[in-house]
Amino acid sequence: MVNILLVEDESKIAAFIEKGLTESGFHVQVADDGQKGKVCFLQNKYDLIILDVMLPYLDGISLCKFIRSKDEKTPVLMLTALGTVDDKVTGLESGADDYLVKPFQFRELKARVNALLRRTEIEKEEEPQMLTFSDLTMDLNSKRVWRDDQELILTAREFTLLEYFLKNPGKVLSRQEIAEKVWDINFDTGTNVIDVYVNYLRNKVDKGFDKKLIQTQIGMGYVLRE
Ligand code: CA
Repeated sequence: MVNILLVEDESKIAAFIEKGLTESGFHVQVADDGQKGKVCFLQNKYDLIILDVMLPYLDGISLCKFIRSKDEKTPVLMLTALGTVDDKVTGLESGADDYLVKPFQFRELKARVNALLRRTEIEKEEEPQMLTFSDLTMDLNSKRVWRDDQELILTAREFTLLEYFLKNPGKVLSRQEIAEKVWDINFDTGTNVIDVYVNYLRNKVDKGFDKKLIQTQIGMGYVLRE
């Protein structure tokens, strides 16, 4: 369940937001001053934080800066009754991702919340990761590949080609698909560039290993398979 921290000292506004977000299926924790908000942030994990700017004990801008010093990723939506350009700039400079001026309609808030959560989802998907298959390991972050404990030195194109195989294990990939996905070109039947590169890659991935991972599916294409 999506967990949201709402730091808002005006109880009516807090209740209105909490009710709406809860009815939309979110879990909401309310802190009614900046200091409590800080404690909540330190003790729990949230998917999104909604911060009022004017708060007792610790204002929203300072709290946002504190949050950003600990955590760069969790989206922060600022709320304020002021809404001048300067306040907006200050809010965004403090590390907030978006800004909403009071008074607002709940559906505006919900649209912002959904947009921020969606952005985080996309960023998560794009986060560097490891791809593995059998004894092959690819680190998309450092662009390095290993088979067993041995590092494979690949060219950029070979790396992209192997990445495509690793993202589609067990699936027969036609030359046409490979050309489109790896070379970003329309397949020209007159060229054997795909076969040439698959062979380059095989020489690095499979040569010297008993188990061949990049296999030919005659008349259809190639497949990463044990
Ligand atoms: Ca306030």
